[in-house]
Amino acid sequence: MTEAVCPARRCRPAIMYNTRMKFFIRTFGCQMNENDSEHIAGVLAAAGAEKAGRPEEADLVIVNTCAVREKSEEKLYSYLGRLSSLKKKRPFLIGVAGCVAQIRRRNLIRNRPFIDFVVGPDNYREIPGLVERAGAPCVRTGRGREWREFGHGETLRENPAVAYVTVMEGCDNFCAYCIVPFSRGRERFRPAANILREVREVAADGSREVEFLGQNVDAYRDPETGRGLDALLDETSAMAGIEWMRFITSHPRNFGDEIIQAMRRNPKVCRQLHLPLQSGSTSVLKRMNRGYSRDDYLALVDRLETALPGLQLSTDIIVGFPGETEADFEETCDVVRRVRFAGIFSFRYSPRPLTAAARLPDDVPLEVKRRRLLALQGLQKTIQLGLNQSFIGQTVKVLCSGPGLRGPGRFSGRTEGNLVVNFSAPEDPTGRFVAVRVTGCGPYSLHGELA
Ligand code: SAM
Ligand code: SF4
Repeated sequence: MTEAVCPARRCRPAIMYNTRMKFFIRTFGCQMNENDSEHIAGVLAAAGAEKAGRPEEADLVIVNTCAVREKSEEKLYSYLGRLSSLKKKRPFLIGVAGCVAQIRRRNLIRNRPFIDFVVGPDNYREIPGLVERAGAPCVRTGRGREWREFGHGETLRENPAVAYVTVMEGCDNFCAYCIVPFSRGRERFRPAANILREVREVAADGSREVEFLGQNVDAYRDPETGRGLDALLDETSAMAGIEWMRFITSHPRNFGDEIIQAMRRNPKVCRQLHLPLQSGSTSVLKRMNRGYSRDDYLALVDRLETALPGLQLSTDIIVGFPGETEADFEETCDVVRRVRFAGIFSFRYSPRPLTAAARLPDDVPLEVKRRRLLALQGLQKTIQLGLNQSFIGQTVKVLCSGPGLRGPGRFSGRTEGNLVVNFSAPEDPTGRFVAVRVTGCGPYSLHGELA
């Protein structure tokens, strides 16, 4: 890459490319953001750019952001600070994508002039054009009403074994604490024909598992036929090559019996479900606008566990929502003890712009939120350790996603129940199913060796 001053744009140098441009993407947030980053990488690769291993080697760094919690936004600003220092040493382009880009828009650039472009979730196709015309900072956050389809060559997948397939965008639920309906826009469903085409493509490429993604996947309706998630599960089950299927996230209010029946008749659908609880107190759930009570949630768990023996459940919980009392928090802990989740993502409530709860007094003191979070995490750690210990001595089926962190000969993968397994193997089994004998565990993972 060479740098040249463009006479037409006096404010900053234009970047011209005479070698293959290298890009690096840093992703914050959930699987939906990871899948978006795979699309951004695919769009850039289709335009001739190449992935760099580190930001230090890149001509373009894109930060794909998450706005769900205050903490995720803070992480972005501290990462941008690091990039700004790097940019003082050598020129490269910086783009901010995703949910923070969508809500903060021009303000991001106003406060940080080293950013070259800001691009919202509906505008990733425009990134190569923004790179070409870099010289004056640009903001692209327009919203389309139509589904924006990415072609096969426009998705550069990270995981050789598991393919993320987005089935819907946005959300219409407006939970009182949640910024997603504003950052991701209103609910839009992807046509089933396009979803199934993508599943066929990933199966042909060697993926063994598909994970359907959306904020409320259980509300999915094909815009052309009106058929739901149950039909998608049936049709995907019939495809050769795909052996495991999951979907995330399900909303307890939308989880109908037709989905339970589809899971029952299709053994390829993993006996695992992420079912956010948020709070175990009916009065807090009501103020959160979740649309179900503590009893509704427990009754759904009962129906699921009866219909699908061995089902592993995980959940999301927020502590310290406005007005949460000690008794409300105890009700949450009680649900956690009863259900014995295999995993919990737990968060301290933080007010987010535009949301209904941002107008309520944030009246649970920070130290109380911290104490409740630690107590919840301690409780869950004990439960998880007990559940994981019950696997010691068993042989489990694992889909290997790649090398582990602990040096050569170590690999990592997941069980059908979505438990992380780290294991040793004489040859690299990445992308394949293997049988692993579990020899030990911690609260967050199992470890073992090839059986
Ligand atoms: N659509 C999913 C659902 O209905 O639960 C999850 C969406 S959100 C991206 C992921 C999780 O972030 C939520 O389940 C919630 O626990 C947490 N979260 C969202 N807004 C939050 C806030 N303002 N403060 C703390 N946690 C929050
Ligand atoms: Fe946010 Fe609620 Fe929609 Fe989930 S269902 S994305 S928590 S508004």
